[in-house]
Amino acid sequence: MSMFETAKPAVKVRGIHLDLKGLPPTPKRLIELLDLLATARINCVLVEWEDMYPWATYPELRCATAYSRATVDRFLRRAGELGIEVVPLVQSFGHMETVLCRKRFAHLREVPDHVGDLCPSRPESGAVVLAMVEDVLRTHEGRITHFHLGGDEAWTLGSCPTCRRAVQRRGKAALYLRHIVPLLDAVAKRGVRPILWDDMMRDWPQKALRELGARTDLMCWSYRPAPFEKLTPEILDRFARAGVRIWGASAFKGADGPIVDVCNLENRLANMAAWSRAARRREMAGLVATGWSRYSTFCAPCEGLEPSLDALVLGGVVMWNGRRSSRSEKAIDGFLSRGRAGQLAGDRFARCRAASEQLANWRGQFANHLQNLQLLPQLAGEHDRVNPSAVRRVRTQWDRYTRAGKERGREWAKSHAGLVPKLWVDRYVKSRLALVERMDPVVRGLVKGK
Ligand SMILES: [Zn+2]
Repeated sequence: MSMFETAKPAVKVRGIHLDLKGLPPTPKRLIELLDLLATARINCVLVEWEDMYPWATYPELRCATAYSRATVDRFLRRAGELGIEVVPLVQSFGHMETVLCRKRFAHLREVPDHVGDLCPSRPESGAVVLAMVEDVLRTHEGRITHFHLGGDEAWTLGSCPTCRRAVQRRGKAALYLRHIVPLLDAVAKRGVRPILWDDMMRDWPQKALRELGARTDLMCWSYRPAPFEKLTPEILDRFARAGVRIWGASAFKGADGPIVDVCNLENRLANMAAWSRAARRREMAGLVATGWSRYSTFCAPCEGLEPSLDALVLGGVVMWNGRRSSRSEKAIDGFLSRGRAGQLAGDRFARCRAASEQLANWRGQFANHLQNLQLLPQLAGEHDRVNPSAVRRVRTQWDRYTRAGKERGREWAKSHAGLVPKLWVDRYVKSRLALVERMDPVVRGLVKGK
């Protein structure tokens, strides 16, 4: 019995977001994932290439495992064969960390010690973004119809002396527009429709929204189980009244805590279903289920893509059906273990999921062990209250705990071998284990067990 319950999809453009700045797939896996998306009837993929892109103009932006141009080309070709529209994303305002952390670009920050927001008043700022957009267009041109320019969460906008004066004179929206319009126009000139995140514009006056809406689509995002509490229907109505073409953005992963190992499937399904209903009712241009791999460039990675494949596929199902159904939720494990999806997910998914759950359970015990340690009065200098058997028990428990952590880390790494480059697998495991490992000699010194 198919999980797809209707002949026609509820949402016409059904997208998945690949956020490659954390746990990026190996080149082979990147292409395989497209085939898995196709089994979930996904027909759009928003790709945040970030430091995995083979940047040519600014090669220093590539990370150690950046894809080759050949891989990018293969990805675009396979997407084309599968009928999946690729929408690349290049940051243009906020979240420019990958660029602004480099010495060469540090002078372009809006605030010197905040490495994220670009100052729109420096003449070089627009040129740097444009050069990156051109770089991505060189591989994507002729194969894309939309280009996402980010533009979200530039919270320090209007902080530098020049920008502050500009905001005082004409307001924040005007300053934002002055920077973004030439970029939007440059993309549009290539026959590609730009998209921006919507959060910076939620309180804009109608006139500014109309000016923006003539040039770009907005992708409205909200990742909570009940998505329309903060992003209210009134905000969506205001965008619509200003003639803005709207996309929705839900989340299939990367929204249940900055350092979790598994997503909360119940929250994700509630979020994606609410968005699917809204996308249908409001006739949105499309809906993208985002899959954040870090809360920001400067955070350790959150849960991986591989253990989240059930949420990803169910995202496709929910967008197709326009609602959740317990039938498809019950059928998902079977779907991922048989047929084409079984070849692409199957045991590998099951192992990655199990290893992630084990790691999460282990991490969940940390507070208990800390409390056991804190219960020892000798920590507070009460050396006449030492009970050797109690000390020994705490030490044995701590030893068992650290050993188990290493084992869980090894299992996690093994489950991801070949799916994510070793460099990133090791860093992920380290992000979960390093604190406990560093504490180990300290705890041993405190708990001598005599
Ligand atoms: Zn500025």
